[in-house]
Amino acid sequence: MRNILLDGFLRRPLTEDLPPDPELAALGARLDAESRRKLGRSLAIREIDAGSCNGCELEINALATAFYDLERFGLRFVASPRHADVLLVTGPVTHAMREALERTYRATPSPKWVIAAGDCAVGCGVYANSPACVGSVAAVIPVDIHIDGCPPTPVRLLQGLLALLASPRAR
Ligand code: SF4
Repeated sequence: MRNILLDGFLRRPLTEDLPPDPELAALGARLDAESRRKLGRSLAIREIDAGSCNGCELEINALATAFYDLERFGLRFVASPRHADVLLVTGPVTHAMREALERTYRATPSPKWVIAAGDCAVGCGVYANSPACVGSVAAVIPVDIHIDGCPPTPVRLLQGLLALLASPRAR
């Protein structure tokens, strides 16, 4: 046991060193500044999977990893729509998820914004002809901004969030 503890103190972490990414840092800093200017605080995001293949979730989850470290820019994912400013919705809306999406939208306090993230959320993507789908996110709830891509990259998602905050719709 003593050797295991000693080994843990002495050995370097197995993760790779984070390469400097000035573009990402600049993007995050602009997002942080815009969020504080619009809201007076950091931005709270509630992610909703309305029927995706989970490819989009992999990219969204990457934002919270040590590599992208979304929280250093003041952005955070919240568990309840009642604490959210932004609903980040992925996937085509399936019949099974339609009511849950509508109820989540209603439970989010105003002002609120909705992002449809990924080709499926924008226009049903590869599920366009599926009988399981109601349609795009905009067919069910009002959408403020669309982010295309299958899946959209983490940087693309950050650019979309920034575009949302910079748009006149974000009061
Ligand atoms: S956009 Fe692509 S990755 Fe995202 S849910 Fe659709 S098929 Fe999956």
